[in-house]
Amino acid sequence: MNLMLMGLPGAGKGTQAEKIVDKYHVIHISTGDMFREAMAQETPVGLKAKGFIDQGNLVPDSVTNEIVKERLAQSDVFQAGYMLDGFPRNLDQAKALDQINQDLNLNLDAVIDIQVDKNLLIDRLSGRFICRDCGATYHKLNNPTKVAGICDRCGGTDFYQRDDDKPETVKNRLDVNIKMNTPLIDYYQKAGVLHQVNGAQEIDQVFVEIDKILNAIN
Ligand code: ADP
Ligand code: AMP
Repeated sequence: MNLMLMGLPGAGKGTQAEKIVDKYHVIHISTGDMFREAMAQETPVGLKAKGFIDQGNLVPDSVTNEIVKERLAQSDVFQAGYMLDGFPRNLDQAKALDQINQDLNLNLDAVIDIQVDKNLLIDRLSGRFICRDCGATYHKLNNPTKVAGICDRCGGTDFYQRDDDKPETVKNRLDVNIKMNTPLIDYYQKAGVLHQVNGAQEIDQVFVEIDKILNAIN
């Protein structure tokens, strides 16, 4: 099964991705995570991406499409299936993904669009914190760790806030992504693979909806 998670920044893609991986064992491929890792290691891709990410802009398609193409060609994807998170983010990337799928003989089975009103997103992004050891995502108020200061998933104690979740970047990130979102929704609706879920519900309830969709196609 090959999936794509769509939704504005803060919609809950990473949060739901953890639950989907636990149950369906697909390979989670987040372009945002790949860029953050590349920046931390100061690779050529990381150095190219940094300026765009720091401003809340999209990294150029030529760079982004290439890292996705390389990742999807790896053998674990053929065995387990992929779950893209944060890619494609515009129509040119969607067309590039179609071409990659064709070249690799893969098929995109479902696009899950997590819909959340933009007014909720600023609060979600400003309260987000992440475990440095395993990448699990939390929220100060909505989804704290069960024991303060200890990651539920791996027991880690080192957490961070993303630089681009700071208020000065968040607004531009949301504007950039909102502009691209509607044409992408139309594109996948026409392709007959779009499923929309209400992401304003509790985290577990959002997963119940996603699980029903995945059960039906798996
Ligand atoms: P995305 O990957 O789409 O940017 P995240 O999964 O990182 O979004 O979620 C953004 C923030 O919102 C995190 O702090 C997360 O804990 C919180 N969050 C995710 N889903 C929900 C939800 N359904 N209700 C409330 N808060 C949520
Ligand atoms: P995310 O973790 O998905 O919120 O992405 C963080 C940042 O990485 C974005 O604000 C972009 O600057 C960059 N990025 C992630 N995915 C893409 C993509 N598909 N196209 C271009 N830039 C991306």
